[in-house]
Amino acid sequence: MTPRTAIAHDTTDKSDRDQVLIAGAGIGGLTLALALAQHNIASHIFERREKFSIEGAGIQVGPNGARILRMLGLEAPVCAFAGTPSFVVPRDGLSGEVLARMPIGNRSNARHTAPYWTMHRANLHSALLAAVHDCSLVRLSMDSEVLRADQADGHVTAVLANHYTAVGQILVAADGIHSRLRKAWISDAPLHAAGKSAARTVIASAELSDTVDKSNVGLWLAPGAHVVHYPVRAGKEIALVAIFDDQEVSPDWTTPISQDWVCTRANGLNPDLQKILHAGVCWQKWSLATLPPLKRWSTGRTTLLGDAAHPVLPFLAQGGVMAMEDAVVLATELAHASGNAVKALERYERVRRPRTARVAKASQQNGRIYHYAGLTALARNNAMKIIRGPALINRYRWLYDWQISI
Ligand SMILES: Cc1cc2nc3c(=O)[nH]c(=O)nc-3n(C[C@H](O)[C@H](O)[C@H](O)COP(=O)(O)OP(=O)(O)OC[C@H]3O[C@@H](n4cnc5c(N)ncnc54)[C@H](O)[C@@H]3O)c2cc1C
Repeated sequence: MTPRTAIAHDTTDKSDRDQVLIAGAGIGGLTLALALAQHNIASHIFERREKFSIEGAGIQVGPNGARILRMLGLEAPVCAFAGTPSFVVPRDGLSGEVLARMPIGNRSNARHTAPYWTMHRANLHSALLAAVHDCSLVRLSMDSEVLRADQADGHVTAVLANHYTAVGQILVAADGIHSRLRKAWISDAPLHAAGKSAARTVIASAELSDTVDKSNVGLWLAPGAHVVHYPVRAGKEIALVAIFDDQEVSPDWTTPISQDWVCTRANGLNPDLQKILHAGVCWQKWSLATLPPLKRWSTGRTTLLGDAAHPVLPFLAQGGVMAMEDAVVLATELAHASGNAVKALERYERVRRPRTARVAKASQQNGRIYHYAGLTALARNNAMKIIRGPALINRYRWLYDWQISI
């Protein structure tokens, strides 16, 4: 397969003016390009990085995200590497007691008409990238940081750090949580440190004893901490995420940290959980941050998408999936816009802002509940045991049953 990477260049002809310019080739930017192509709309993605790295991290893709990957024709490649755990199994992180068994994986097919997948981030990114490379309607330029947008005469020009420019009908900033374009266009309000850090790694499944439940999503809840583990690379590896209350801020999501950093904080947790964490070697830390919902995402022919528009704490495992939902809604609105791209952007944010704000709020709430101590932890545990797994997962029908409805 020949990558359709391109050098950004001055574009002035009519067809280029109709293309959609996308800053950022993360999950959101790539999904947007593929969703646009399904509507026969051409796009040009500009990625700041020279090449993609393989971050040691997993990602859970709930049924609302799986439905989108299916719609993009990616079910077969994704199934080759995805895990399909049958249950999320919350446990008390001190006693180890199982609190519920929430049905997911292929059981989600019956409940939500789409599966619940777990995977290595790099696998998901590569599958999206391969589809982009195969698509004649998408160009991808690496080492192409978008610095700003100039709007005039019914089009927008992206100005790049490598001195090139490109013209299109709109420019979408899918440039992540630290989005420079959000700061330039909408708001330079700083991110709020969430006071929690996520340590992440991926280990060979064989590194964990057979007594560990490796086929499901394990969710251990403890005072000031919680740990999630799930199968990736079709079960050959296990992704570990340990989230601790932590005030120290790291600059990006690949800051290396020692095994000691994790194990010291895990002292006092359930011994079985400590053994799981001790198996992790190459940990990376990501300080979690939030941003109050923005009053608007678009200005003229520019808009925001994914983490750039609405960073979401990872306690519902939905940040990447929200970027995918944004992408298919934006592509559909543009396809139905009869050439009025500005109206399409207005409709896109009207649809997406309330939903992403709801997800951000629900994620924040989960973060608080997961880290309860003492009597509140006891009340949480009892409630989970009484409500039971199927009813616990049913509370998320509003989230997982989502599908595009334009
Ligand atoms: C600990 C943790 C666990 C998570 N787990 C899950 C999960 O299980 N499920 C889930 O759905 N989500 C999860 N998320 C959230 C998810 O990772 C993010 O929401 C998602 O990656 C956002 O995608 P994006 O495309 O908006 O941004 P990003 O993935 O950050 O991509 C932005 C891209 O833009 C590029 N870029 C930046 N600036 C520029 C510029 N000026 N010009 C050009 N390119 C630029 C960057 O290099 C990058 O490639 C998790 C997050 C964390 C921290």
